[in-house]
Amino acid sequence: RSLLTRPDRYHKVKPVAANISLIVIVIAPLPEPAPTLIDRYLVACADAEIPALLVLNKCDLLLGNDDPRLKLLDEYKALGYECMLTQADSDFAELKQRLDNETVAFVGQSGVGKSTMINAIVPDAAQKTNIISENSALGQHTTTSTRLIRFGENGALIDSPGIREFGLWHLDHAKIDHGFPEISAFIGHCQYRNCTHTHEKQCAIKQAVDKHEVLARRLDSYLRLVDEITEAQQKN
Ligand code: GDP
Ligand code: ZN
Repeated sequence: RSLLTRPDRYHKVKPVAANISLIVIVIAPLPEPAPTLIDRYLVACADAEIPALLVLNKCDLLLGNDDPRLKLLDEYKALGYECMLTQADSDFAELKQRLDNETVAFVGQSGVGKSTMINAIVPDAAQKTNIISENSALGQHTTTSTRLIRFGENGALIDSPGIREFGLWHLDHAKIDHGFPEISAFIGHCQYRNCTHTHEKQCAIKQAVDKHEVLARRLDSYLRLVDEITEAQQKN
């Protein structure tokens, strides 16, 4: 149904995992969510044609109904992404139910609660993998192979160092556009064909931001990713 690939060190594309049906992007009030990282994950999900579920964990740490992290989640909901609130002391019951019958991979910053979540959903995962000792700060991983662990009636978890680096691989322009559907809707409508969507007056995307049809934050993210690939291409 789907294939996740990544470049190896010789710049050849290597398959990492097949048939992932859902990618769970985990964020939390702490560590503070990095919206650009979420956008980057969403680009990679769109590229692999895998649906994403955005989970805000550690809801017990939220500061009431006006918490900015809830607002952030609502923004993604409004863009059409599936979202869920979780916290460890609810035993992740709703998430568990949602994930049965899915082949899932978890992504997200270190410390957001992925291992806690996985241990609740797949109680013997700890024995089967070294996923808890993930050491992303140093870019080192204790597991080097990809594993598939079954849970529930018909669920499976794919754990792989390749997936933990997911979203950090090389992107190209078309892929980025694909991951920002609300922005790509306006591409081609700017005055200049080579519009950079930064300073041009007759820029359809900037006008959409002014009309609150596109979030300024999403346009920033988009431009940051485009800059990154432009830089990478100049180096090659
Ligand atoms: P990972 O790095 O994403 O795998 O995160 P961990 O699962 O190791 O969790 C990091 C810390 O957050 C641990 O101390 C957990 O006990 C804690 N944690 C996980 N879920 C929750 C939650 O819902 N609420 C709170 N307050 N802490 C949590
Ligand atoms: Zn433009």
